[in-house]
Parts: sequence; C-alpha cells; structure tokens
Amino acid sequence: MALIDLDKIIVKRTILGIRCTVCGGNLLVSEKESAISKLARIISLGIVRPKDYACETCKKRYILL
Ligand SMILES: [Zn+2]
Repeated sequence: MALIDLDKIIVKRTILGIRCTVCGGNLLVSEKESAISKLARIISLGIVRPKDYACETCKKRYILL
C-alpha cells in the first residue's frame, strides 16, 4: 500500500492502518472522487482503483493506491 500526499505528491508506505501523516488523525473515505484518482484510473486503464481519503482532523486529502 502506498499513500500519495496530494500536496507534495510523495508516495509514503504504510504498515498498519491509515493515519494522517501530518496530525496522526483518522482518515475517512471520501465520497467524492478526486481528479487525480480519476486520472490515475484512466491512465492505468482501470487497473488501478484509487480510493480517496480525507483526514478527520485537518481535512488533508490522500489517495490510497
Ligand atoms: Zn490530519
């Protein structure tokens, strides 16, 4: 699993669970698909199905690939 930080576009590895890298808050699945995750799915021809997450506390957004 890898987390992409939308602000810095850095792939971060996670071992257990999903936590905000900024404040350590819980990440919630975002209902709205971001443009970046939509793009990733189109580029990969549907192989990659990214999930959007948003931090509960600071509202920072992540994509889980
Ligand atoms: Zn946060």
